[in-house]
Amino acid sequence: MRSLQDIRGCLVDLDGTLVRGGHALPGAAAFLDELDCRYVIVSNNAEHTPLELSRGLRRMGLVVAPRRIVLAGTMALDEIARRRPRARIAMLASRSLCLYARERGLEPVTERPDVVFLGRDRHFSYRRLTQTANALRDGAEFVVANPDHVHPGPDGSVVPETGALLAAILACTGPVPHRIVGKPGPVLFEAGLALLGLPRHAVMMVGDNPATDGEGARRIGLRYFELRGGVYPSWGEGVPCRAQAGMVALTA
Ligand SMILES: [Mg+2]
Repeated sequence: MRSLQDIRGCLVDLDGTLVRGGHALPGAAAFLDELDCRYVIVSNNAEHTPLELSRGLRRMGLVVAPRRIVLAGTMALDEIARRRPRARIAMLASRSLCLYARERGLEPVTERPDVVFLGRDRHFSYRRLTQTANALRDGAEFVVANPDHVHPGPDGSVVPETGALLAAILACTGPVPHRIVGKPGPVLFEAGLALLGLPRHAVMMVGDNPATDGEGARRIGLRYFELRGGVYPSWGEGVPCRAQAGMVALTA
């Protein structure tokens, strides 16, 4: 196990790591303070823009600039806009992501889309399921913000996520090609690393989910700290022992 002393920045998960059920977790603000801007939040969030999320975090007492936030939903739309400028896109997503798609030059439609984008669509319905399944049968490209079935809610409850909607769609279509942008895929990690401007051997992923945070970090060769029992990594007084106790996977 390598020391934390050569870690110069972190990629940090959001839900279950910094916040839960609309509240900051105890110690989250102090942890970000200790990182002193040497971090980027990488989240499978498929509903908000970085600006919205920054404002929401501020209300919870976490001051994070939008430029330090990389989200699966907006990253997916950025990528679609780059690859397929002005594409007709069916948006199964929040209102703010629909606006974001327009700002990127995409054209939200409900019929004959070139691309179907699936985010955490709280207005998902039988009608949307029908439209989507048939658009995919007709050959539309399918881009999914994240594979998560749920994320943690308050008091141990679960909040349905994008992957649960994906399962409903695939139940109708059978196996169809689709691209999943969020963790554990490399897109968010690579974007976060680029923003940090640090070599990957000097960066650690901090998260609560071994299947997404841990597996994604392993795939691209980042060290991984798994949050357990609310204990954050700490470099205080040059003693990384608290972090060592919670570190469950290292790649070097
Ligand atoms: Mg999490």
